[in-house]
Amino acid sequence: MLKPRAIIAGLSPYHSPIVSRDGISLDLNESMAGCSPRVLKRLQSLSAADVALYPRREAGEQLVADFLRVAPEQVLLTNGMDEALAVLFAAYLGEGDELLFADPTFVMYPMLGAALGARVVRVQSGEDMALPVAELLARITPRTRVIAIANPNNPTGLAASRADLLKIVEAAPDAAVVIDEAYFEFCAASLTCKTVLGDLGEHPNLFVGRTFSKAYGLAGIRLGVLTGAAKQMEYLRRLCLPFNVNSVALACLKEALADRAFVSEHVAQVKRGRERLERLFDELGLRYWPSQTNFVLVRIEENSKAFVGAMRRRGVLVRDSSSNPGCGGCVRVTVGTAKQMDEVLAAIREAVTEIGR
Ligand code: PMP
Repeated sequence: MLKPRAIIAGLSPYHSPIVSRDGISLDLNESMAGCSPRVLKRLQSLSAADVALYPRREAGEQLVADFLRVAPEQVLLTNGMDEALAVLFAAYLGEGDELLFADPTFVMYPMLGAALGARVVRVQSGEDMALPVAELLARITPRTRVIAIANPNNPTGLAASRADLLKIVEAAPDAAVVIDEAYFEFCAASLTCKTVLGDLGEHPNLFVGRTFSKAYGLAGIRLGVLTGAAKQMEYLRRLCLPFNVNSVALACLKEALADRAFVSEHVAQVKRGRERLERLFDELGLRYWPSQTNFVLVRIEENSKAFVGAMRRRGVLVRDSSSNPGCGGCVRVTVGTAKQMDEVLAAIREAVTEIGR
């Protein structure tokens, strides 16, 4: 009988995080503002040849390299950042190698590590949810091959300092350290959240990931970016499928990068919405973590599932994060548009009253 590899047979079944799309979808950290009108216009102008021919990723890599001020050899475009992580993990993690990260964080890290047969080594953040730098440093071993850190982090919204991140990069020269900057645009103006993109030159084991799924509002077209030392990126390119990024995504790239006004207006709107959410949580006496992203993690305590249900009945989908280690009783709420937030804040007030919190 046909059998998959033992590692694959032993994986837990995959459950899509999408429960439903009916309602205001504040459960997946997508952009509720849509995408730039310039991108939409480009999509509408696609020709038959644009879709009939295989895509040329290299042209897009040049555009992103210019934007990020790195060499094109340092850039790999991927089918969302999920694929960037999959390629990176597959390049460095074999059976029995160690993948190290701090909980709570992005749930794909352990999933991808487990699929490769890696030993998943997790350290737990404290109640402040700050990156546990000393604990991470203490768990680096000669078998540590990948260290993954989302900065700012999902689901906490918190950012670690550049100095702390570089300490980890320097302590593990034989491990690939990936700083996942999926939400970077939302914290770019903050003094406490700095990109490590400028540090790539000094650190040949450092990788930085970005995505067009969040601030650019392009989650549906799947476009991610991985950058690192040119020598390492050359290995990753050998592993990556040649036509992983489709022509539609590549066609959008130039306009998406050019429309800075769209991104900055969206980021400003998200900040206003985030502040409104945080003020409401203060008023309701709910614990939350001050976010530098497009979502806020709030602790509802033992009633988090009832809260998610009460919100769904009011047409607002939010994410129950209580299974993420350290997040017992927590719910993650993505920031919507200003108009949606009027409804969302009212729904939160009602749901909190309904569950008797
Ligand atoms: N990293 C983090 C921290 C994320 O939260 C996400 C999406 N939720 C991703 C990577 C993947 O993003 P995408 O594949 O849409 O680019």
